[in-house]
Amino acid sequence: MTDAFPVDLRVAPRAHLRRDTSTQRPHLPWAEAIASGLSHFASLADEATARAALDARLEGLRGALLASPYYVQRLQEAGLHPGDLRTLDDLAHFPVLERTALAAHWDAVPTLPADSDECVVVKSSGSTGDPVRVVRDRRDCLHMWAVLRFLVARAGAVLPPRPRVVLLDALPGGLEYSVRLPILYDGALHRISVLRGDARERLCRVRPAVLFSDPEGLRWLAEQRDVPLPRLVLTSAQHLPAQLRAALARTVPAPVLNYYSTTETGPLAWECLRDASSGRFHVFAPDVWLEPGRDEVVVTRLRPGVLPLLRYLPGDSGTVRRDACACGFQGWTLEGFGGRGACHFHTPSGRAVDAWALAWVFKHHALRAFRLTQVEPSRFELELAGMAEADLDPLCERLRAALRNLGWREVVLHARSVAVSALIQGSKPQPFRAGPPPG
Ligand SMILES: [Zn+2]
Repeated sequence: MTDAFPVDLRVAPRAHLRRDTSTQRPHLPWAEAIASGLSHFASLADEATARAALDARLEGLRGALLASPYYVQRLQEAGLHPGDLRTLDDLAHFPVLERTALAAHWDAVPTLPADSDECVVVKSSGSTGDPVRVVRDRRDCLHMWAVLRFLVARAGAVLPPRPRVVLLDALPGGLEYSVRLPILYDGALHRISVLRGDARERLCRVRPAVLFSDPEGLRWLAEQRDVPLPRLVLTSAQHLPAQLRAALARTVPAPVLNYYSTTETGPLAWECLRDASSGRFHVFAPDVWLEPGRDEVVVTRLRPGVLPLLRYLPGDSGTVRRDACACGFQGWTLEGFGGRGACHFHTPSGRAVDAWALAWVFKHHALRAFRLTQVEPSRFELELAGMAEADLDPLCERLRAALRNLGWREVVLHARSVAVSALIQGSKPQPFRAGPPPG
């Protein structure tokens, strides 16, 4: 699985390091329209009305498919024409787009933009070893800031004027920077590495209204004393352990919003705020359509842009259904996200730890592309599908650090690259396996 932090901690800093932040301002009306569109759809109770409005959005997609060299050829081969795509139900007749196909044809899938200077290419680490290169236009790079307007309102948070946003980064080698952020109420963006000795002081100085981090950064935050209270904390962990949520709530009692996003698609869904850690994610309609009734995520992009995505498979499991949630949300909800079967590892002292607390380490990997097995109390075996041996090291370093934080003092980790077929067992991915319990 992949992620696209707005502000991606790993893959997209260059998109946000643009110094010409004045070019954000012309996109303000668009950002407001995105936020109000999301808000409108999240309260549309009538499914037929919502579907009709989404069907109308297919017109833009049809145009994009006609301008995409890849799709012109692909649909011709399949005996289809973009004009055949009149409603969401028609999607079933169209071919899916595998992640490997997007990786192979990354430069032919996008439409040819009038102004290619506005585009950037970001890399998303691949589940098969090959990174997927993703072409993004200016609005793709700004999209998460527009979505953030909606999420702030959804969480009942109120931002101060000129809000400061912090990316709290727990990765080694984290680059720090500060840039203005005109797109978000004339705010500013600061990236702070928790690995630096003065991280807490910097955080206190900045006093962020919004804080983005991954579970390692949140774990660090939960251990600090007297840190400023943001109005909203966001993370794109696939799985945010309830224990971590509880620890964070004691130190930083701010609403925590977990969202699901991939570099290829942008944000797809957010975890219900009323039912946190439920694994129930509300879909960001009308920007994307996730096909209901399947056991894996199938995404069609409905937001106009340079990269048309028709029935894209990010490699995540889950089932979408129409929902009227207790939180007030109306729309489509992704349930059983990740298809996670419960798995507990045991520390050498015998304490049980939810193995899914390690899921964030693998967020750039499809759940079917890795398997971590606890062989003995301090010994783990990691199998990764199709990954070059050289690429294993940074991942293993992250994994060791995460295990240390969870209570393993000494970790023996044996990693190897295997064929995808070696990891497939049954219909649901089983990325974590425990050996026999201690004692
Ligand atoms: Zn809800």
